[in-house]
Amino acid sequence: MNANFLQTPITYLKNVGPNRAEILRSELGITTYYDLLQLFPNRYLDKTHYYKINQLQPSGADVQVVGKIIHIKTVEQKRGKRLVATFMDETGQMELVWFRGHKWIRENLKLNEPYVIFGRIARYGSTFSMAHPEMELLSVHQKGLKISMQPIYPSTEKLSAKGITNRVLSQLVQQLFLESKGQFSESLSAEILHELKLISKSEALLNIHFPKSQDLLTKAQFRLKFEELFFVQLQLISKKLIRKQKIKGMPFSEVGQNFNAFFQEHLPFELTNAQKKVIKEIRKDLGSNAQMNRLLQGDVGSGKTIVALLCMLLALDNGFQACMMAPTEILAIQHFNGLKELLGAMEVDIALLTGSTKKSVRKEIHENLQNGQLKILVGTHAILEDVVQFQNLGLAIIDEQHRFGVAQRSKLWHKNEIPPHILVMTATPIPRTLAMSLYGDLDISVIEELPPGRKPVRTLHRYDSNRLKVFGFIKDEIKKGRQVYIVYPLIQESEALDYKDLMDGYESIARDFPLPDYQISIVHGKMKPADKDYEMKRFVEGETQIMVATTVIEVGVNVPNASVMIIESAERFGLSQLHQLRGRVGRGAEQSYCVLMTSHKLSEDAKTRLETMVRTHDGFEIAEVDLKLRGPGDLMGTQQSGMLNLRIADIVKDNQILKTARYYAIKVLKEDPALQTDKNQPIHQSYSRIMKDRTLWNYIS
Ligand code: ADP
Ligand code: MG
Repeated sequence: MNANFLQTPITYLKNVGPNRAEILRSELGITTYYDLLQLFPNRYLDKTHYYKINQLQPSGADVQVVGKIIHIKTVEQKRGKRLVATFMDETGQMELVWFRGHKWIRENLKLNEPYVIFGRIARYGSTFSMAHPEMELLSVHQKGLKISMQPIYPSTEKLSAKGITNRVLSQLVQQLFLESKGQFSESLSAEILHELKLISKSEALLNIHFPKSQDLLTKAQFRLKFEELFFVQLQLISKKLIRKQKIKGMPFSEVGQNFNAFFQEHLPFELTNAQKKVIKEIRKDLGSNAQMNRLLQGDVGSGKTIVALLCMLLALDNGFQACMMAPTEILAIQHFNGLKELLGAMEVDIALLTGSTKKSVRKEIHENLQNGQLKILVGTHAILEDVVQFQNLGLAIIDEQHRFGVAQRSKLWHKNEIPPHILVMTATPIPRTLAMSLYGDLDISVIEELPPGRKPVRTLHRYDSNRLKVFGFIKDEIKKGRQVYIVYPLIQESEALDYKDLMDGYESIARDFPLPDYQISIVHGKMKPADKDYEMKRFVEGETQIMVATTVIEVGVNVPNASVMIIESAERFGLSQLHQLRGRVGRGAEQSYCVLMTSHKLSEDAKTRLETMVRTHDGFEIAEVDLKLRGPGDLMGTQQSGMLNLRIADIVKDNQILKTARYYAIKVLKEDPALQTDKNQPIHQSYSRIMKDRTLWNYIS
């Protein structure tokens, strides 16, 4: 069938009038034949199996049962009535419940006749019940078409209320197959079909909706998942190719005075192999004619700053300016101070620009950027403002990228006539799988090694009942001259309660760690910025030994003398947050500790999170666990990407298929970038259609 047929509005399908069309649109986003065809079942019911009532499990699964209705009654309840039927087989009884359509049911259902019922099981007390079952007389059922696996389509309350049951959806899909004669145009090349032994598109669509066997269903799922991921990868990779070909970059061909002087005279330590490798990767990009768009991943403390600095010096050597942007003022200041210290006696003009930069200083910065005297600008969002104009910005570095949106990145692109090279640095490890789907059009470098001599933070899990012992431990550490963080959760939904916990905790800590022996700082989001800064500063300068805080300290602060991180109610934190918090300690030469305090009541997921933290320091491993626990939708940076609206594939579970799809997407585009060859016509046509109505993937302007 050709594409036009599939673009037919759904109202034209038999048995779909304007009303149903509207519900299909609002509930399932279906407006065309194509959309309906792409409504893949969530799961399949084994139609060959009939449950006995005494075999039912309260698992929420869909089941079919054969039995008779022996009694129907109406039950009054606060809002409206419900109709309850007693349904029995030779092993027991259960209830069928209807909240609507009572009249029709009472008039049409037959008592004491064998029915096959089908629906989702719930249990109330000791009674199993099924709400709004689909029912068929056993005699009719036996004559009907035999399918062994019944597709179960996505459903919503409104759909079932309006009578668009699973059976109706299935009938509509059947109708679609009837009208199209089950013929759908192929979207993959014969070569790929052959090499991967994939079934054809028509066969896959038929078997995803009406599986003839488990084997064919598996093949159909594989084929459709592959196809979906293949086209996502095709888009990402062709975008990357286009960028490399069309967007000219400014080649940094020289390694000159600044880089060499720094490397030879000012490098404070030997670079790790990982740092060297990453610098090589970046230099290769910068030296080519294409614009660089690279993501630099490295765990907290892996040494990204020095990499950034070396890259900026390369820009300078080639007559360009560079800038570095951080998400918060505190971080920007730390970067600025850190870079200045690294640069030491070298004569490089560098300035800091944040929201609180004084007007007169700001003016000077603007001028010196434009006349080219100022070479490196470090700052916050303030850099993005239109008044900030560079003479020739060659490299923009963004730290902690998930805090910046797409729009902001695009603003940077336009700071120069030819877009500057962009290096995005993140300490939030993104699992490779996710990176491939999310940032498939970025190049990725990873610093997977920490500088030598770091003592890994010792991580312990302790219950609240052991608090006194933990306090004793804190006292010992403070006696040795160390400092301690105590962090409380602050979650939006329970903010008021969380603040109470924080203040209660603070009071109890203040009792156990009395003045004048102990000085305590407290920092939380309700404080005025000036007060926060003051308290932070006291801790940074070592005037206070204990910092009680909410997660505001998550990013940024660097206090090498702080060697203990206590996380209260650790079961309430997400894995990546725990990992970030732990990264606050272990920055000095001393052995550091992270203590995860929890109650005894822990969910399975919480246990996994705590065990993972105790077991490993590897940010990537932690991120993989996180991805498995939470699914991709919740991970940082994925929400706004709109990238994961996959219909059938799951980027975590279908990791292998994703890799294969990526491999083939690269192969196809390498051989045939414009998809012009005959053999790639099926791909070309599908791809053009996708690109025509794509709403995704324009996240990098
Ligand atoms: P991050 O990747 O978290 O930004 P930083 O760049 O702040 O890490 O580096 C963390 C600390 O490690 C800094 O004190 C830095 O001086 C130090 N460091 C970085 N690279 C090395 C190295 N190769 N050898 C020794 N220390 C290093
Ligand atoms: Mg850093």
